[in-house]
Amino acid sequence: MRRISILGSTGSIGTQALSVAALHADQFRVVALTAHSNYAMLFEQVRRFRPEIAGLTVPIPMELIPSDLRFCEWVFGREALTICAKADVDDVLVSVVGMAGLESVLAALESGKRVLLANKEALVAGGHLVTEAAAKVGKNALLPVDSEHSAIFQCLEGSAGNPISKIILTCSGGPFRTWPKEDIRSATKAQALKHPNWVMGQKITIDSATLFNKALEVIEAKWLFHVEHRDIQVVVHPQSVIHSGVVFADGALLAQLGTPDMRLPILYAMSYPKRLPTGGEPLDLFSLGALTFEKPDEIRFPSLRMAREALENGGAAGCILNAANEVAVAHLLSSGEQSPMTVGKIYEVVEETLMQIGHLPASTLEEVLEADRRAREIANERLKSL
Ligand code: NDP
Ligand code: MG
Repeated sequence: MRRISILGSTGSIGTQALSVAALHADQFRVVALTAHSNYAMLFEQVRRFRPEIAGLTVPIPMELIPSDLRFCEWVFGREALTICAKADVDDVLVSVVGMAGLESVLAALESGKRVLLANKEALVAGGHLVTEAAAKVGKNALLPVDSEHSAIFQCLEGSAGNPISKIILTCSGGPFRTWPKEDIRSATKAQALKHPNWVMGQKITIDSATLFNKALEVIEAKWLFHVEHRDIQVVVHPQSVIHSGVVFADGALLAQLGTPDMRLPILYAMSYPKRLPTGGEPLDLFSLGALTFEKPDEIRFPSLRMAREALENGGAAGCILNAANEVAVAHLLSSGEQSPMTVGKIYEVVEETLMQIGHLPASTLEEVLEADRRAREIANERLKSL
């Protein structure tokens, strides 16, 4: 029985993790669960999975907790994440969205837990801190859940220690893959929320439309697999069947294929190194038809260029890029139909925030949090003048 804590259990990744935990109830004991504000869904999950601890990062009065759910410990506020990260578990699945994940990833690793990482923002903002903390815990203390990084990790299981010469990071291209630049810039929230292949939380769905998701994933791959960004090739592959791959010195390309279903990478991290059925359909090659590949266009999607520049600049650049993007995406998501906020403004806000701040250090958590705070302040100022 592996004991698991799930941070962000009410989200897209969190609910799928619970579905595979239920499918293999003999293998996993759900010990801790957290949500942000969706307490109604958390109540249902607590009723069903009977964890030892339940947390809400947006506090509610104890009187609102139904009497049949008081058998477990309830924790509230930001520290709910760190308490559940340090609970008596083997694994902590960090599936909260955004920078809020960084401190829980560090807390889990510092208390010797294995982290199953969906929350890419933690690595983008604090890659240096996270990888250092993971190295102290030992090999495979940080298992990727992001489908591309899980694919790369699975390919590396067959590498026999041979170094990677290149990573192939696949990308669906999102809903604007074939759109002209001007139409992408003026695209609305509703248009950006229509992802062709995946159903996910709203923030990552917008990131997939702007390709900031791929930009964050280039930075995530650099930290997870210790490769230079020049050795990470983004390949647009609209069918999302090849989840990513690795090229070795002899030119051999190993890739992992599957239907676009997050239950596979989630369960692979949860049961690693064992492989268990996910409840989904296996890939049917005959029904696939053609698999196609395109070069990404960094003029129409400047997010990819910004990620490479951030990696060149080092320091807190990744953290600043991530924070400005989070602020701009939150603004788009909360904007009404008459708002002047568009997809194009996300690129402007991120680029201007990076330029205005310039270089900042990111060697300690305090420095990372300070860079994050400053980037949010500047991005918010910029958005006010829209
Ligand atoms: P969702 O928006 O669906 O879920 C987010 C979860 O985090 C919810 O449980 C939410 O609680 C909680 N949460 C939101 N804000 C905060 C906060 N400030 N502090 C603590 N908890 C918070 O997101 P996804 O599941 O789509 O994504 C989660 C992470 O996984 C992201 O980092 C994303 O990039 C990554 N990821 C997601 C994939 C996917 O397919 N969805 C694929 C690959 C990576 P509540 O419900 O109460 O608001
Ligand atoms: Mg991904």
